[in-house]
Amino acid sequence: MLRITGGQRRETGPDGEWVTRRIPGSAAVKAYRCPGCAQEIPAGMPHVVAWRPYGDGEDRRHWHSSCWERRSRRAPRAPRH
Ligand SMILES: [Zn+2]
Repeated sequence: MLRITGGQRRETGPDGEWVTRRIPGSAAVKAYRCPGCAQEIPAGMPHVVAWRPYGDGEDRRHWHSSCWERRSRRAPRAPRH
């Protein structure tokens, strides 16, 4: 279990629980590939890091802030059919 420290929060989405952290542009020193849109997040762009609250944090993913929010809104509830 990771400790929840300043700047992190737990979020529950359609795909389970995540711990998220907002990364300010000044702390974004590397480019990452966003799993939401498969586009690059350039260095210097504020974004969101999300990882599972259980586990060792090695499954961290970097998301565009907008992709992260859209992801939970898109919330695929169990399709009805
Ligand atoms: Zn994205």
